[in-house]
Amino acid sequence: MRATVCLAVLFVLLPSGPTQSAEPTVHLEGPRVQGGLLRGRVVPGSTVKFEGERVRVSKDGWFLIGFGREASPKAVLSVVFPDGRRQRFGLSVKSRKYRIQRIDGLPPGKVTPSKEELKRIRREVALVKRARKIDDPRTDFLGGFRWPVKGIISGVYGSQRILNGQPRQPHYGIDIAAPRGTRVVAPAAGVVTLAHPDMYFSGGTMMVDHGHGLQSAFLHLSRFLVKKGQRVKQGQPIAEVGSTGRSTGPHLDWRVNLFSRRLDAALLVGPMPK
Ligand SMILES: [Zn+2]
Repeated sequence: MRATVCLAVLFVLLPSGPTQSAEPTVHLEGPRVQGGLLRGRVVPGSTVKFEGERVRVSKDGWFLIGFGREASPKAVLSVVFPDGRRQRFGLSVKSRKYRIQRIDGLPPGKVTPSKEELKRIRREVALVKRARKIDDPRTDFLGGFRWPVKGIISGVYGSQRILNGQPRQPHYGIDIAAPRGTRVVAPAAGVVTLAHPDMYFSGGTMMVDHGHGLQSAFLHLSRFLVKKGQRVKQGQPIAEVGSTGRSTGPHLDWRVNLFSRRLDAALLVGPMPK
């Protein structure tokens, strides 16, 4: 996991073609690996498409793109510069090996949610999906990221369990074990877009929007220190660690999404501080 952090190098993409005055360029920064987030910059007023989809470009030319858990080895970024010149860039994306755990011989159907619980789960999923669609022009992500809590990493991005031969949903967060009541701070500035005290799976759940569709989610919280709609600064205490929802012990599960694309939060920060 840490080795991939070292791939975070500044790339300057030079479009091919005849040399012209003020050759337009695209700057891209970040790990070109599954789960990685890239921050880019173009001449303001450019139009950027990633994998055929329009990407928000800030007034100053900043934009974000991300690679999901199963991102293919090649991705296409296309830019139309304000002077009408067009360029396509092929990006190579490094594949990763995820931790897969097979457990067989489990008693079948141990925890099956009831009809009522299923209704509740569907409602909660809809709330989270709606929050993830928010496309805010703020560029809080430019301030960088820090760990929201210090602790022992007990779960990583992309890992998956196969129970009795049935693959479960991959784990998209990073789990950090810490005592109940430990303060969770905002890893980057943003606005609180969701603060739900008790979701079926994730218990006390908070989401913070860092702009351009990039959001952090914090799961299994015991207490909130900020409210929905509130602006938070990087490092500001926002909640406390808990073990609410379907959790086996106090820990923070921190997730990062670029809209519906799930990224690896660990790639945004350095090694866990002592
Ligand atoms: Zn987790």
